[in-house]
Amino acid sequence: MKDEAKTKKRITNELAELCQRIAELEKVEAERQQLERKVVEYEELDRLKSDLLSTVSHELRTPLAAIKGYTTMLLDYDRRLRCEEKQEHLQSIDRATDRLTELVDHLLDMSQLNAGLLKLEKQPISISKLIREAVAEAKLTAPRHQIVLNMRKGLPRVNIDAKRIRQVLDNLIDNACKYSKEGSSVVVQAHRGGSELHISVADQGIGIPAGDLERVFDWMYRIEKRLPQEEGLGLGLSISKGLVQAHGGRIWMESEEGKGSKCSFTLPL
Ligand code: ATP
Ligand code: MG
Repeated sequence: MKDEAKTKKRITNELAELCQRIAELEKVEAERQQLERKVVEYEELDRLKSDLLSTVSHELRTPLAAIKGYTTMLLDYDRRLRCEEKQEHLQSIDRATDRLTELVDHLLDMSQLNAGLLKLEKQPISISKLIREAVAEAKLTAPRHQIVLNMRKGLPRVNIDAKRIRQVLDNLIDNACKYSKEGSSVVVQAHRGGSELHISVADQGIGIPAGDLERVFDWMYRIEKRLPQEEGLGLGLSISKGLVQAHGGRIWMESEEGKGSKCSFTLPL
């Protein structure tokens, strides 16, 4: 009887030890799985970082090469160049410098939005004036497109960061012109809908495949190059989404491949 009790106690102790060991092993396994997830996350971050570096360096190289090329030409062949040729080369340098500034601004905005550091400077402004100015400027920068403004009269003033909303509008008009043929029309519309303001930019361009509609707002997402001379980092729409959401609005894309696209956003009133 005594032996039996001893054996029982030994088995109970062994069982308790076993349970403790199992619990320890489970803890180690959970830690291993967590580490595994971290490794996958780091690998993904590393991949994004190298993607970003190669895209950015590629995009920076194009305008830099233009600036270097035309400057060298102006310095080396100064006497042999006609006045109009010099003027054209200077204009190309000017355009390439604008492109570089735009790329750097896009990257800075994106990093501020990602870090939640972007500060809006809101003021009540006339949205009609802001849209009219954006359209007037777009007509100058894209003279071969038919840019049409379709805006209801008497739109209310809105409390927004005018520079940032102008940036959204410029990004959408830039896309509409970039992804459509010269001569086609780009329609900018604005109207009040309940407690929101609706603004949209529609084009008759190459459109977006249904499967890509959601993803075009992702950071650095670009549909495989479909047009010659197509430039971009795939940041315009993600920055626009961040800016619209920071104002409490929504942004979305509608499109039919080969027919055109319409990007719309709202601003709360
Ligand atoms: P970036 O704006 O940084 O110069 P991007 O124009 O390529 O470069 P986004 O504006 O973010 O980047 O657009 C993402 C992708 O969505 C584009 O590469 C393009 O393929 C597609 N896209 C955006 N707008 C249109 C449009 N109006 N028509 C057709 N495709 C579009
Ligand atoms: Mg763009």
